[in-house]
This record gives sequence, structure tokens and C-alpha cells, in this order.
Amino acid sequence: MARSCRLVFWAIAIVLAALAPARAQSHGGDGSDHRIAVVASFSILGDFVKEVGGTRVDVTTLVGTNGDVHVFTPTPADVRKVAAAKLVIVNGLGLEGWLPRLVQASGGHATIVVASRGVALRGADAGERHSARHDEDPADPHAWQSVANAKIYVTNIRDGLIAADPPGEGLYRAHAAAYLSKLDTLDREVRDAVERIPPERRKVISTHNAFGYFEAAYGIAFIAPQGVSTDSEPSARDIAMTVTQIRNAKIPAIFLENLSDERLIRRIAAESGARVGGTLYSDSLSDENGDAPTYIDMVRHNIKALTSALAD
Ligand code: ZN
Repeated sequence: MARSCRLVFWAIAIVLAALAPARAQSHGGDGSDHRIAVVASFSILGDFVKEVGGTRVDVTTLVGTNGDVHVFTPTPADVRKVAAAKLVIVNGLGLEGWLPRLVQASGGHATIVVASRGVALRGADAGERHSARHDEDPADPHAWQSVANAKIYVTNIRDGLIAADPPGEGLYRAHAAAYLSKLDTLDREVRDAVERIPPERRKVISTHNAFGYFEAAYGIAFIAPQGVSTDSEPSARDIAMTVTQIRNAKIPAIFLENLSDERLIRRIAAESGARVGGTLYSDSLSDENGDAPTYIDMVRHNIKALTSALAD
């Protein structure tokens, strides 16, 4: 027994000795290890960073797939991720209320890139008109739901990566250009799909008010019993108003969201008699095996769900 233990010991020692020079070499400035550490606040931004950064970046996402960025509580592991990052990519517009404390706890060395910088803010009037809630009026942070805005996000992320890693400029520009052209195609797909829905049927209910920018860009009206955040429950009055709106406006379908409790929408469906049209991906992607592992998959899934529920 003692002999076989010694054999194992030496086998491990030999393997480690063989690996050591290779590991030292990869950090030795031979040009093979330029990956920069980037933290993205939630999964949709993480996808954009992967598209633009490719193998030059090492992306970590704080709020994971199917997670809710509105009510996130960072852990000590998240503090370490931010402390190790060169860039932190955030949405801004008040979405990540937990961010300032996290950055402070991490020592505050990373550069923060606000991906939504430059988008046209959705007017408060639109939110007032289409949300059942009137008691709070924060800015609507869900700008990514318009593909034209997603292009602004991608451009800001590209510029942030170039500033943090100038030798990668050519690669970041090439990746971003290719992806922006895919987003142009996606934007046309959404417009074409909405064209096929009869105008009087272009209205739905979802859980929280996450589709205001989608509505403004593509002309499907969204009404939500919850406001632009998920951090508080809708009241009985909010729910009753939504049920009345469904009946008065003859809204053809209501939708679940991948991050929220199904019970609210099931209850509204039961009280109003409206049909549940499926699940929309609002603030979060699905995992690899789900319907929306990337932003482009997410928009395609949502438009397919909407058109199949709203078509005659
Ligand atoms: Zn949201």
C-alpha cells in the first residue's frame, strides 16, 4: 500500500512539474493571454459583452439567467467579482439600485460603463397611461426592449472595451459591426411580425411594466398591474383595475414573465377570462437549454409568442 501511495505522489508531482512551465509561459507576455475581466450586472448585458468581446474578454454576470435584477442582493462572492474586474457594465436608469454599495465594498477600482447612455428616455406620460399604478413614477429602465436601443448599448460596450483594452480595438470593432448588422435584421423582423397582427388586437397584459420601450418602438400596447419595478406587490385595487381594463379594452391575451411569480397572472386570467398567451422574457435570458439563451433568441421568442397569441 505504501508503495502505491508513493507512486501516486510521484505521478502527481510529475504532472505538476510538466504543467508549471506552461502556466508560467501563458502569463509571460507572449501575447496569448489578453483576456480582460468584465462584470455585467445582468444576463442581457452579459450576452452583449460576449458578442463584442469574444475570446478577448472573460465575462461574469451578477444576476444570472431567469434572475430578477430589480431585487438582487449581492453576496461577498459578487464583491470579489467586481474587485477583480477591469470593467463593470451596467444598465443604469436606476435599474441596479444595489450597485453603488457593491462598487464601494469592492474598493471601487473598476471602470463603470453605463450601457444605456444616450438612449431617449421614455416619457413618464407613457408609463402613467399604461400602468395601473399611479403611486410611483420612477424612470423606466427597460430600454433594451427596443432593438434600436440595444444597438446603442452595444456601441457603448464596444467603446468601453476599446478604452479598457486598446490593442483589441480592431477585434471589438469587427465583432460589434457584425452584431449590429444582425440587430438591424432583428429589428426588421419584429416590425414585419407586428404588421401581420390586426391593429385592434395589438394589446396585451404582462406582469410588470417592462415593455414600454417595445411598445413605443413597435406599437403593441402593454398594460401591467405592477409598475416598472418588481420590488413591491400589486394591490388588490391594481389587480381589479387590470381586470376592468382587460374587459373594457377587449385585450386578447395576457402573458407570464420568466422572472415573476405566475400566481398574479393566473389570478388575473381567472378573474377576467383572458387567455394566457405564454411567457415573455423581460429582464433576463433563459439558461442555455431554454427559449432565450441570447438577446436575439429572446426578442424572437417574444415576438413569436405575441404574434401567435394576437393573430386572429
Ligand atoms: Zn423589470
